[in-house]
Amino acid sequence: MKAITVEPRKPGTVRFEDVPDPDAREGSVLVEAIAAAVCGTDVEIAEGKYGWAPPGKTRLVLGHESLGRVIDPGPRSSLKKGDLVTGIVRRPDPVPCPNCAVGEWDMCRNGLYTERGIKEIHGFMSERWRIEPEYAIKIDPSLGILGVLLEPTTVIAKALEQILAVGQRAFWEPKTVLVTGAGPIGLLAAAVARLPRLEVHVLDRIETGLKPDLVRALGATYHSGRVLDIGFEPDVIVECTGVGSVIADSIQKVGAGGVVCLTGVGAGGIAMGAVADVAAAAVLKNNVVVGSVNANKRHWYKANDRLARLDRTWLSRLITRYEKPENFTQALERKPDDIKVVIQFSEI
Ligand SMILES: [Zn+2]
Repeated sequence: MKAITVEPRKPGTVRFEDVPDPDAREGSVLVEAIAAAVCGTDVEIAEGKYGWAPPGKTRLVLGHESLGRVIDPGPRSSLKKGDLVTGIVRRPDPVPCPNCAVGEWDMCRNGLYTERGIKEIHGFMSERWRIEPEYAIKIDPSLGILGVLLEPTTVIAKALEQILAVGQRAFWEPKTVLVTGAGPIGLLAAAVARLPRLEVHVLDRIETGLKPDLVRALGATYHSGRVLDIGFEPDVIVECTGVGSVIADSIQKVGAGGVVCLTGVGAGGIAMGAVADVAAAAVLKNNVVVGSVNANKRHWYKANDRLARLDRTWLSRLITRYEKPENFTQALERKPDDIKVVIQFSEI
């Protein structure tokens, strides 16, 4: 079979090449790939900045946002041939730490977890892949190809759960949400936050085009410019840019008793002199800044439910390009109008 592979930490090593069929040790469920979506992490791995091959190997099969069709459910799963599935990305560390021991691998304490397509386990950008039944998530069949958006939605499901858990340390009925960054995660966050009819605002640098249109189509308000200029103090800010100045502004702008959830990963940042000012704003308003990454099985379940409740036409507009696997170079390129790029391995 063919797969998109890379030698991690070596730029320019991505290939679409022949590889052995998936190893039976990767799981008893055999899946035919339909699609894999590209995210910033894949681009970083392709650029040689991140990623780990499986132990003893030099190359890693890329891809962690998957959609496939079950070819063989194997002996011990409730799945059926033809079911649409996606694969959970992270696996608990082998020690395991207390959180991994109770199934909260997203909260792993020792960093020894592994991740498909990222850290020491092959990913899903191959014509066929295997998965353990307990890590295969059956997709609502009415989603079709849009099921490939489940993995980024799990990030949102976890972030919103964290926000709610933190906010409820005191009396708290949040009404307004600001999402910073109108990429795939930000737009999905806005859409999921609209399900319980919260007042949602999205801020991005871009002024016109598809992103503002998609925000308005949700019944949400679009802002371009600075967080400090949005004209109100949100109860919740979901920060999806990872940009230091946006983070600092968010911590200062969030309303009293509010929660800023950081989901973006950036580098560099604000000048040290400003940290005390930002911290003072958080102290005086009892604000919480919480980081959130990855997702456990509960979040995959919730995300499947939330994604299935979103408008299909709106979701389909998030996928701005489909590419064939042999065109991996274009698929891994960031173009200005891209929101989500999907590599399609077979027809749905
Ligand atoms: Zn752990």
